[in-house]
Amino acid sequence: MSQQTQPSDAAIDNLAKAMETSKYNAGRLIMTESAYFSSEAQKDAYNKLGVEQFEILATLDDITSELCQSLDGKVFPMSEYQAGVTAPPFHPWCRTTTVPYFDDDFGERAAREPETEKTYYVSGNMKYPEWRENFVEKDLTQKHSGDIMLNRDINSTGSVNMTDTIKSQIQLPIEREHSGKGVPSAIIHSDTGLTNRQQTLLNQLPEYDSRVTVPKNSVSMRDLSALTAETGVEYAMFTKGQERLIIRGNEVSVNVSTEFAEKLSRDSYRWSGHTHPGIEMYSLQSSEGDMNILKLFNQKKSVIYNSTGNHLLFWKEE
Ligand SMILES: [Zn+2]
Repeated sequence: MSQQTQPSDAAIDNLAKAMETSKYNAGRLIMTESAYFSSEAQKDAYNKLGVEQFEILATLDDITSELCQSLDGKVFPMSEYQAGVTAPPFHPWCRTTTVPYFDDDFGERAAREPETEKTYYVSGNMKYPEWRENFVEKDLTQKHSGDIMLNRDINSTGSVNMTDTIKSQIQLPIEREHSGKGVPSAIIHSDTGLTNRQQTLLNQLPEYDSRVTVPKNSVSMRDLSALTAETGVEYAMFTKGQERLIIRGNEVSVNVSTEFAEKLSRDSYRWSGHTHPGIEMYSLQSSEGDMNILKLFNQKKSVIYNSTGNHLLFWKEE
């Protein structure tokens, strides 16, 4: 909810008269109240969309309050959403907003319908071919009629080009409700940019094969999907206890050799997932290399995210 409706001067005048208060205070009251109602509307929208957690997104500049600076990047469950307490407005003239936050623990998978991005749930053990047959192929033949093949054209620098026609066909219901910052599909389609927390992570991964270890709760696969949307390259994530190892790759791979994967596995790391640049559903398909690396870990499955936040599990061959 980046834009609050601006109250008219007349409304402020009337309120000031009625309350015999200064115009400044009246304006402040109306703005704070409208931010409060925006925040409540945001809460309803998140609940309707099945968002389970949200992240505080402060505008970081010279005049950001210390309170909002300290809250930036904090993640709360929707059950704790309370305007003025865990959600904006935190103070008069508050410019802080929120974005949905998606965790990526395995279990029931949320999948997304390619074009409308409506979230639907598939059972946790549904495998790619089954999912594709049930959801994607029907869509491809009935509604998308081959559009999906046209959606991406990777140029030599790995960035993504799309025609305006295709852009206009993509509906972004979540993003319409707020700035879209940090949301992979909004980054890829509207260039909304990363959240401050995601940008901090990217700063630590400046080039191919950069590696960083961060606390588990500071990054999700959804964040890596946002980084892939922003940079057009792959990222891989390995988790051990409360620690995550993130490795930056290039447009087509991440540098994880057999030896290195074996070492990670011996050290009790789990391969949480990795990303593939792309916006089509087939960008979620695991490669032969992915399957070979998965064999080396003591786990049955891992996950691939693409540039739009779509994701799919892939499984060890039995
Ligand atoms: Zn892969």
